[in-house]
Amino acid sequence: MQRTFSIIKPDAVRKGQTAAVLAMMEAAGFRIVAIKKLSISKPQAAGFYAVHAQRPFFDSLTTFMSSGPAFVLVLEKENAIADLRKLMGATNPANAEEGTIRKKFAGSIEENTVHGSDAEETAAFEIGYFFAGYELV
Ligand code: ATP
Ligand code: MG
Repeated sequence: MQRTFSIIKPDAVRKGQTAAVLAMMEAAGFRIVAIKKLSISKPQAAGFYAVHAQRPFFDSLTTFMSSGPAFVLVLEKENAIADLRKLMGATNPANAEEGTIRKKFAGSIEENTVHGSDAEETAAFEIGYFFAGYELV
C-alpha cells in the first residue's frame, strides 16, 4: 500500500466538480485516508509549490491556488503515486488522455482541477504540509 497527496483545486471547487472528482478517484480504487476543505493562503501556496519558485508562472499559480476554497486529501492504494498521476492526465488538459480527470474537467494548463504528488519524497512532504499524523486514518 502506498499513500499520495492530492488537492482538488479552487477551479474545480468553484465549478461544483468536487464530488465528481472524488467519485473518479474512488472508482479507480483509491481509499480516502483524510480530507478537508480549506482556503490556502498565498504564502502557504508558495511554500507548497516552492520547487516552482523560479518559474515564470509562479506568481499566477500561487494567486490561483489561494483564489478560493480547495480540498486537500490523502489517498491510498497500491502504486498510488503513479496511478493518481495517470488518472489525473497531463498538466495541460489539451494533452490529457480520454478518461482522465483533467481531460474531463480542466479549463487550462493552470486551472487544471487536481494536484497529485510526483514521487515518494514529495508525497511525504506534501502530506505533512497539510495533515497531522492523527488525522490519517
Ligand atoms: P501538480 O504539481 O499541480 O500536480 P503537475 O505536476 O502536472 O501538477 P507541475 O509542472 O508540477 O505540473 O506544475 C504545477 C502546477 O503549476 C500545474 O498543475 C499548473 O496548475 C501550474 N502550471 C504548470 N505549468 C504551467 C504553465 N506553463 N502556465 C501556467 N501554469 C502552469
Ligand atoms: Mg507537480
